[in-house]
Amino acid sequence: MTDGLKMSNVSHMFGDNRVLHEVSFDVAPGELVCLLGPSGCGKTTALRLAAGLEQLQVGEITVSDQVVARPGEYVEPEKRGVGMVFQDYALFPHLNVSKNIGFGLRHFSESERSEAIKKALAQVGMADYLNAFPHELSGGQQQRIALARALAATPRIMLLDEPFSGLDVARRADLRDTTLHVLKNAGIATVMVTHDPQEAMYMADRIIIMNEGAIMQDGTPEELYFHPDNRFVASFFGEVNHFSAKVSNGTIFTPVGEITNVEYDDGTDVDVLIRPEGLHVGDAVNGHDILANVDAVRVLGEVNLMHLTLQKGGHIHARVPRRFSTLNQNSVAITLDPEMTFVFPMS
Ligand code: ATP
Repeated sequence: MTDGLKMSNVSHMFGDNRVLHEVSFDVAPGELVCLLGPSGCGKTTALRLAAGLEQLQVGEITVSDQVVARPGEYVEPEKRGVGMVFQDYALFPHLNVSKNIGFGLRHFSESERSEAIKKALAQVGMADYLNAFPHELSGGQQQRIALARALAATPRIMLLDEPFSGLDVARRADLRDTTLHVLKNAGIATVMVTHDPQEAMYMADRIIIMNEGAIMQDGTPEELYFHPDNRFVASFFGEVNHFSAKVSNGTIFTPVGEITNVEYDDGTDVDVLIRPEGLHVGDAVNGHDILANVDAVRVLGEVNLMHLTLQKGGHIHARVPRRFSTLNQNSVAITLDPEMTFVFPMS
């Protein structure tokens, strides 16, 4: 029983191309789940199946405990209680804002429709734009109208497909924030498709990370970032330093330090992935330090990225707090943060 959206064992083929493979997840009311993954991994297909824009081949989809799709059974998109927002706004160019939003509310009485339009516009901060035409609005404003249109019908489920990717950085941040607050306040179960890990971490209560049609991991942003199940997930959230090594006496020796209490048997070949912020940089204090020469320091905003060459060989990247911006040392000592270090047996 799920009082939101539930997809169970959904598989999908386009001709010979298997696009989804036994995908199962659920989204509770008020929860925002991001489907995250590289281009072509099947995110949009999963969303279109949930919306009813694509016929389900294998599996089952329920909305508020009602089956909306299983092989041989199909509920029309407009009867699923689903709102949708796409990347390209999809507003009718010849209709003003009020009529664009009202279009999906034809079954409302005139006064109900007018109330619903005003309420939805207020929710997205566009109350003054009732009579504007799409061409008079910026991309961000058009997307707010698209969101208002989806909200006005009070959907149980909201499906967002890369809704911010056509916008510049400032508008994107602004609209993300509005969207998050509106959907949370309305208590709607939301699935958002994105290929941007930062966006997923900003928006999501849970992230489902996909690759080649399959779910790689389903968890909170914290679980995925700090406890990735596999190399794919660990690497997807940004750059990692990569070393190959072998377990010896329960320990892994890497060029940037030792990892102890390893759970794999001695002799196992492993990949070691270390986030740039998992390499700490400091002054050399004794002869046991692991030393690196500083090649360059780049200011990234809140952090700096250091390009380093280990004195025993190998190029690495470390992300360090901004106070290191004044750093003018030629060499530094490296220590490894086990929390940001991930070990996987080589396949
Ligand atoms: P993107 O971020 O690029 O949109 P995605 O993860 O959303 O990617 P999908 O759009 O679901 O991926 O596409 C998954 C695969 O299915 C791709 O190989 C795509 O070419 C293929 N595909 C999608 N729609 C169709 C279709 N209608 N007919 C045939 N193949 C399709």
